[in-house]
Amino acid sequence: MSAYSIRTEVKHPSASSAVDWENLTFGRTFSDHMFVVDFDGNQWVDPRIVPYGPMSFDPAISAIHYGQSIFEGLKAFKGNDGKVRVFRPEMNARRLNHSAKRMCMAELPESLFLEGLLKLLALDAAWVHPEDGYSLYIRPFMFATETYLGIKPSDTYRFVIMTSPVKAYYQGAIRVKVERHYTRAASGGTGSAKAAGNYAASLYPAKLAQEQGFRQLIWTDAANHEYLEESGTMNLFFMRNGLLHTPTTESDTILAGVTRDSILTLANSWGVPIETRRIKVTELQEGLRDGSITELFGAGTAATIAQIESIRIDEEDFTPPPVEERAFSNKVAETLTGIKKGVLEDPFGWVHLVQG
Ligand SMILES: *Cc1c(COP(=O)(O)O)cnc(C)c1O
Repeated sequence: MSAYSIRTEVKHPSASSAVDWENLTFGRTFSDHMFVVDFDGNQWVDPRIVPYGPMSFDPAISAIHYGQSIFEGLKAFKGNDGKVRVFRPEMNARRLNHSAKRMCMAELPESLFLEGLLKLLALDAAWVHPEDGYSLYIRPFMFATETYLGIKPSDTYRFVIMTSPVKAYYQGAIRVKVERHYTRAASGGTGSAKAAGNYAASLYPAKLAQEQGFRQLIWTDAANHEYLEESGTMNLFFMRNGLLHTPTTESDTILAGVTRDSILTLANSWGVPIETRRIKVTELQEGLRDGSITELFGAGTAATIAQIESIRIDEEDFTPPPVEERAFSNKVAETLTGIKKGVLEDPFGWVHLVQG
């Protein structure tokens, strides 16, 4: 049942037949349509699906000057049965509002997020490529649109969902470095929100690390750089003595990933014991040194599981066991991929089927 009337302006002809599926690069190709809805100061108005394309704004809109801008990221998959499935979108709708609250922005009814998303996916189903490894990356985002140079929360906002087809995400195992100087998020700050500015702030330290040959940073706490936090777009996990470890999201410095939550749910259902708490860098160091750490990986929507092949802590490089030997994380990757593609059963009701 549709609770909202979403007007739709269909693009003719679709550009999907012109896509070069072999040579897609992440984030550069966009589907035919986008979902748009505006907050007018009182309510969300004029929900619509329109052809993807430029928008025009006054140069004084506050998102540009003061950074009230938040986003989400999730994926849709097409199974061998031709059906489009989207993974746990209600988690993203909820998290968007968590971010909105922290950034003093308007909250969006979760039902409007979901209805706009499912309608958009139904219309752009041809952009979800069925071959293994392909998916449609979904980018919901919201930004402040009031034309005013004073610093205050904007009265008006725009929420948009755009989508971008992406190819098999194979990046191989990654080299990372534990960051002991720069900070991603401080207690009391905005680290638990998917706020645009968090990512701007991490670009410079990430660039320094990339120049040293590292793909990602592992952030540590702002106070003493003593506790492990997460990576730039992924939560951090390791297996030590058969216990699955991941830093707690109870503080407000770590982004609570949907992938993280899914992994913890699977681990729990498989009887794998879990430690979620504050974890010291020295625990990781000791476990890598004495061989009690058998798996080390990042977890996020982009890669699902990004295996870490080497990690620098202070001046020392550590190499966890080879990826083929990491039974737990390999099983997680296989299970999540199978559920998302509709090949495996979905015992937790994670997948939403898109009705064509
Ligand atoms: C988005 C994000 C993650 C991963 O979240 P998922 O919902 O699993 O994609 C982890 N850390 C940060 C900082 C992020 O922005």
